[in-house]
Amino acid sequence: MSDFKILTDTINNHNCKLIAVSKTQSVEAILKIYKLGQRDFGENRVQELLEKQAELPDDINWHLIGHLQKNKVKYITPFIHMIHSADNLELLDTIDKKAQDSERKINILLQIKIAEEDTKYGFDFNDLINNFQPSDYQNLNFKGVMGMATFTDDQSKIRKEFQKLVTYKRLLNEKFFRNELLFSEISMGMSGDYEIAMEEGSTMVRIGSLIFGERNKN
Ligand SMILES: *Cc1c(COP(=O)(O)O)cnc(C)c1O
Repeated sequence: MSDFKILTDTINNHNCKLIAVSKTQSVEAILKIYKLGQRDFGENRVQELLEKQAELPDDINWHLIGHLQKNKVKYITPFIHMIHSADNLELLDTIDKKAQDSERKINILLQIKIAEEDTKYGFDFNDLINNFQPSDYQNLNFKGVMGMATFTDDQSKIRKEFQKLVTYKRLLNEKFFRNELLFSEISMGMSGDYEIAMEEGSTMVRIGSLIFGERNKN
């Protein structure tokens, strides 16, 4: 597993953080990576996340990276470390209420569409900047943005999409937060494109298959 050490060193050298995407992986496989020192893991389905969270050590920081349905929010607010996939205002409302019930502040990334293809999830940037009001949500800590580039071999296209996300983050900070230290995170980059993402200023890469090997069928 010295490959894992090389990967984490490379990511750390870019002042970036690794979120190990453990969806479809077994508890045993996750524990192997945990024992190498990894503490941040990402899951995309609430049910699977709950099962793993119950079985794995308490000092894991769990990140939700997949689309979140409003009726499932209450199950994760008691423990979730960060939600990367906050993609609509109604969902923000729900997370805010359930966070209050859980007496916790929840770390939130705003997922924004950057891919050209018509992806299902994510804010349209213009809708977001015109309709969002962070002070509406007293129990949420807005930490930054998340985005997914088009799945393509065209590296310059991927790079341009990541640059778009960096610009969106800057504009949101200028309008709403004016604090680079608080609104600081840019979650972008996966197994196939994390190197480009880091070059463009990613602060969190979400990497699954490169660490765990090919995914089990979900
Ligand atoms: C699965 C997934 C990843 C990781 O993908 P890999 O290609 O396996 O690295 C990253 N982000 C999201 C939102 C995912 O669903």
